[in-house]
Amino acid sequence: MSTTARQDAGKNQHMDCEISILCREALAGAKCANFHSSILGTNIFTPKESVATEVIEAETFAIKDMYKKLRGELSKVPWRRMICNNQGSPKWTFIMYLVILRRLYTKDRLDKWEIHNDSICSLCKAELETHQHLFFACNMANVIWQRLLHWLSINRCSAGWNEELEWTTLHANRKTIQDEVYRMTLAVAVYYIWQERNYRIFQQRERTIEEITKQIIQEIH
Ligand SMILES: [Zn+2]
Repeated sequence: MSTTARQDAGKNQHMDCEISILCREALAGAKCANFHSSILGTNIFTPKESVATEVIEAETFAIKDMYKKLRGELSKVPWRRMICNNQGSPKWTFIMYLVILRRLYTKDRLDKWEIHNDSICSLCKAELETHQHLFFACNMANVIWQRLLHWLSINRCSAGWNEELEWTTLHANRKTIQDEVYRMTLAVAVYYIWQERNYRIFQQRERTIEEITKQIIQEIH
């Protein structure tokens, strides 16, 4: 190795060491009050009280532990297993996640933005289209979900979304096969009903209750 190369290698090693020291000091919250205020614009790490100090001073350092410390304690929502422990396709659980958050563009939401449409449910053509109505208070959606409940050997009546969400978090929240199949069936039912609604509005084509139910069961198999 040439003299110049050895000098460069030495400089790089020295810089790595300096950077490492600076990072640890920054994470620990020591000697970095100016750094936080000028660079980060926040006061996440306060000297002596840093949330990261405990992790930095531990025998082993893990990014995962640091992430959890910085993120803080978050409350767990009761319906988390419907999404996180759902074995169904991601596209099913994504639509169900939007339904839980009431974020689908149902006609009642579009009305609030003064986007003029007929506001009537495309499935039953009788009532205002809302999340609560579409899943599964609507006559058509109700029959589909009722048949799926029967197929799952669950002896109860189909209800609106609020009631279904409450029932699921109370009775289908475990990691058993039965509960996992139930959560997956719920997700695929929500997906197919939303898909049918979109078919009718944007493609002017309709499927029967029998066709939709059969397709949902085939998806689960
Ligand atoms: Zn309807």
